[in-house]
This record gives sequence, C-alpha cells and structure tokens, in this order.
Amino acid sequence: MNGARILEGLNDEQRRAAVAVRGPVAILAGAGTGKTTTITRRIAYQVASGAFLPEHLLAVTFTEKAAGELRDRLAALGVSGVEARTFHAAALSQLRGLWERHAGTRLPEVLDHKAPLIASLANALPPPHRFLPRRELAGEIEWAKHRMVDPGRYLTELDGTGHEPPIPAELMLRVYDGYERRKASTGRMDFEDMLGLAVRMLESYPAAADAVRERFHAFTVDEYQDVNPLQAALLERWLGGRDELCVVGDDYQTIYTFTGASPEHLLGFPDRYPGATVVRLERNYRSSPQVLSFANGLATHLGGFRKTLVATRPAGPDPVAAAVGDEAAEVATVVRAVTTLRDEDVPLEEIAVLHRINARSEPYEEAFAAAGIPYQVRDGAFLRRPGPRATLQRLRRAAGDLSVEDAVIAATDALGFDPEGSPDADEEVTRQSDLARLRAMAHEFTASHPDRDTSAFVEELARRFSTEHSGRGVNLLTFHRAKGLEFEAVFLPRLLDGELPFRSGRAKADPDEERRLLYVGITRARRFLFLTWPTDGKTGPSPFLAELGVRATATRRRGRTRAAPTAAPAGPVGDGPVFERLRSWRRSRAQADGVPAYVVFHDRTLARIAERMPTDRAALAAIPGIGRTKLERYADEILDVVAAG
Ligand code: ATP
Ligand code: MG
Repeated sequence: MNGARILEGLNDEQRRAAVAVRGPVAILAGAGTGKTTTITRRIAYQVASGAFLPEHLLAVTFTEKAAGELRDRLAALGVSGVEARTFHAAALSQLRGLWERHAGTRLPEVLDHKAPLIASLANALPPPHRFLPRRELAGEIEWAKHRMVDPGRYLTELDGTGHEPPIPAELMLRVYDGYERRKASTGRMDFEDMLGLAVRMLESYPAAADAVRERFHAFTVDEYQDVNPLQAALLERWLGGRDELCVVGDDYQTIYTFTGASPEHLLGFPDRYPGATVVRLERNYRSSPQVLSFANGLATHLGGFRKTLVATRPAGPDPVAAAVGDEAAEVATVVRAVTTLRDEDVPLEEIAVLHRINARSEPYEEAFAAAGIPYQVRDGAFLRRPGPRATLQRLRRAAGDLSVEDAVIAATDALGFDPEGSPDADEEVTRQSDLARLRAMAHEFTASHPDRDTSAFVEELARRFSTEHSGRGVNLLTFHRAKGLEFEAVFLPRLLDGELPFRSGRAKADPDEERRLLYVGITRARRFLFLTWPTDGKTGPSPFLAELGVRATATRRRGRTRAAPTAAPAGPVGDGPVFERLRSWRRSRAQADGVPAYVVFHDRTLARIAERMPTDRAALAAIPGIGRTKLERYADEILDVVAAG
C-alpha cells in the first residue's frame, strides 16, 4: 500500500507522529485519541517509506491479544513480517534462539506455577505461617522479582520501601532464597526470569546482544506508562545505545505500579531523548461527548500530566449511575439492560461487564447462561479457574457413597477452603470465593436432588455455565484486561468501597491506582455506560463516585444509600407495522453493506420514523438521529419503505 493510503484519515498530529519514521518519538496522549492507531500506521509507514525492512521492526504490546490485533491491522495495511509480541514472548523467543549457543548451557524450562516449588518450603515454616496460601508467598516473590531485587538485596529493599511481606521478613527471605535455589537446581525458570535471563544474556554475551541488535533495528512500545524496571532494562539492552524507539502511553492509565511500573519512563522520555519528536493528541475518537465529560470528572483527580480530551463523536445517551438493592438485583439490572441493548441491535461482542477481580464474573456467567445470552470470560471462566477445576478433579475421583454436598465439602476442605480467612492476594480471594460458591451450589443441589450423585452435579454445572464461548458473546473481563480495548456499551457493577478501591486482608490497593483503573474502565465505552452499586452490604459506595459527581451518599445507619442517577435508562422503543418493515429493511441493508444493523440506524431512530411517517427528505432530515450522511445514503429507500404501507 502506498504511503498516502497508509496516512489516510489521520489528523495532523497523528500524521506528524506517523511520518516521523526515524529517531525517538513519544506520543503522550489520553484515552481513545488514536495512539495505538497511530503507531500501527507509523510502523506501516516505516516500511512503505523504505526506512526499514519489516523484519527489522519489533513492536511490543501488553497482551498477546493486542499483539495479534496489531499484526492483523498491519496486514490490512499491506505489511507483513513485523514482529509484534509481548515483552515476555519477545524475551523467550530470543532466549530460545540464542541462549544455548552463547551461554553453553541448556535453556531452563519454563515453570508454569511457582506453587509446587514453594510448597515444601512453606511446609517447613513454623505455624501459623505454614498455613498461608502458597499464592501469597508467590506474590511476594513476584513483588521482589519485578523490581529486580534478588534474595541478597531483599531485606534492604524492604527497609527502603516500607513494603511489608506476608510473613516475617527473615522467614520470607528463607522462602525466596530456597525457591530460587530449587528452581536453578531443577533447571527451571519462572515467568519473571524470562525477562531477567534475557537481560543477563544480552549483558554477559556481547555476541548474543549483537545478534539481537542486528535482527531488530527499531522498536515500538504501546502502553509505555506501564513498563516496569525489568521491561525497561530489557528494552535498553535491545537498543544498545541506539535511539530508534517510539513509545506511546497515557500516564492517567498507569495500572501496573504494583509490579513496579512507573509512568516516569514515559513522562521523562523527552528529557532522556532531547531530540525526540513529542506528539500530544487531544481529539478523542472513541467516546460520545457524554461519556467523555463524565470521565473528565475523574481526570481532575488523577494528577500527573494534564490532558484535555476533545470529543469528536456524535452525542449519545447520558451515562447511567444507579444504586441497586443487592447483588442479585444488580446482576438482574445488568442482564436486563444487556437484553435491551441486544434488542436495539448492539452486538453482544460490543458489550463488556468489567470487574475488579475474577471472582465477580461468576454470578454474571450464571445469569447470562440462564437468560440464554452467550458470554466470554477473558481471564478464565468460573469452571476453568483453579478452585473449581481442582474441586471437579477431586469429585471425579471421590468415593461414591457421599452425598454431593458432603463430597464437595470434603474436596473443598482438602483444597484449603477457609471461610474465616481474609487473604491478601486477589487471586486467592477469587479462589476462596469460587470454593464457597461451589459449596453453596452443592448444598442447593443436594437439597433439591437428594438421590443424585456427583456426576449429575458435574453435568448440572456444565449446563449452568453453558453459554460460555470463546470469542463470542458479552465480554466479562477485569479492568486490567480491558486496557486498550473499546466497546459500544460498558457496565461497571459493584462500585463499592473495598471493591474499588480494592481491599482484602492486609492488602490495601493504592487508591490512586484504583482511581486510574476506574478511569480506564469508563474510557472503554463508546456510547453506553452504566455504573451500579448494591446498597445492602457492609460497605458504602465507592468514594470515586463522589469524584465523578454522582451523588451516592451512604446513609448506612439506616442501611440505605441514596443515589442520583445522571439519567434514566434507555426508553421504550417502537412497534407497529411500519416499524417492523423498517427493521426488516435495515436487516437486509446491513447485511448487504456488511455492517452491524445498529450502524445503519438505532431502533429508536426507526421508531421515530415510524411515528412521524415522513413523506419527503425535509421531513426525514428533521428526525433526530438522521445526519447528512445517513440522509444521503438511505433517504430514498426509507421513504419508499414508509410509503409502501
Ligand atoms: P487507549 O488509550 O484506550 O489505548 P488509543 O489512544 O490507543 O486508546 P485507539 O484505540 O488507537 O486509541 O483509537 C480509539 C478509536 O478511535 C478507535 O476506534 C480508532 O479506530 C479511532 N480513531 C483513531 N484515530 C482516528 C482518526 N484520525 N479518525 C477517526 N477515527 C480514529
Ligand atoms: Mg491504545
């Protein structure tokens, strides 16, 4: 594809970044301003302009999915051969290609989970520490490794940062040190080692560094605000003093500081590279002005580098913020609203329900399955998560003479179910909550089917979660997973103090980071945004709601919360023969154009047309929701459909 085509549709600033094919470039800009779009075009332009061969380019994204999307988009621009990977995948591929040749030893095997290596070390701890979930110890080891703190420096780092380990520091050091030794002696490497080992290889073996640098001449990093010290160190080794680097990011969306990430890498870029092309984008191409101005309420509390976002999209409905009675009512409200959106032809794949931790997807999985609505869980659906998976394995092996409930109690007890516990790590909160949910389901099952056995229970579970698919249906995902993505409609349920900001056990998530998470969540929405929170719990609404201008004053003494929704949910839509004819016209038109029906017209617009029965273009043009382009494109056909009655 020629250069002009590649740059088509970009605004002046985006274009300035895209044509800056050489040298350091930084794009510092807010959500939905086209950062990812711009780097994609820049890479294509680097190739089309002849500045670089595609195989000399490496683009690093945050998730495998983002890497895949980047490759697809480049392919659509006629570019193939560019490497687009996560930091981990890039590091692993370099290790696989170069380690043995240069280091002269076998590359350690990748260790999927730390827990098995930690288990016996944990068992050797004195009580009560011995009973701490392995996941908590693994989390602490990760804390140190993300910061490149080896066991030798661990205690000093704790002193310096004030960070508190889950068990006394000396004991934790013993576990960390033992873990590292065992890992080395069994020839394994964990997830963090992939980056650390790649850094070491490039430092210790100049010939390996030369090979990598010969292979890659220029680098692009998306979501640069979230790079941690290990990733930054690796990137530096790749560059080896060169400055062919393009970074893009938004400090307002820094959500990985718990791994040691810091937006300082992004904000300090222009100082580190004084000759850099620095581009700031202000036009938001994603969200309606209503969603944007709502998000801006939070932006004023985010500190950092001030950015104003200018809306370019057409007006949409006001965001809805509403208190609901309890969790069941909240789930029902979300499912009902999803059904309404579906009836308005918003594709289910364009709808997302975001959670702070994985555990919260479970009630939605059940409710969507019960309503016959397909859904997909990005971070592992209930039945595929560690707790339920391990329980089901045990149930399959369990002796047949126990009732279903007793069998599930025995299995979950053996897996460390602890209703009194208050774990620190959110993975463990999820696992405990999943085990509790399985016990509750087993209790109900035994009460209603006392004669049926565990295999019937396993079948019942499969049925209950039956509408789960991959790549199809409503998206259930965490705020962290949602970064970089966009959806027509976004639901943010359970906005409670203690959930967002998250707290569990000794773990108190940094409120500033949690506010940024909410900001990321809100800015995923194109048009429809729903925020809800139940009012029956032990805790009040999220304090961030007040910052958003939502009046959600907790009057907990009376056990109630008042909320002022900023708007009512979408109103009813039309019926009648003209409306039906318009819908069927829209269906065939959308099919012929290969676009979703709602892109042609929303139900509400069709309802207005049916109501007003326009007989000419002027009358049609006066109907809200019909802009100039749509008038040009559809007026004749619509007037025919209306007149046909
Ligand atoms: P985030 O901060 O969430 O990662 P981003 O800055 O990377 O967002 P993109 O995902 O690249 O933003 O773009 C947001 C939306 O805007 C996408 O739907 C994209 O296609 C669209 N877009 C980007 N630039 C333009 C443009 N110049 N004209 C029209 N649409 C655009
Ligand atoms: Mg992006």
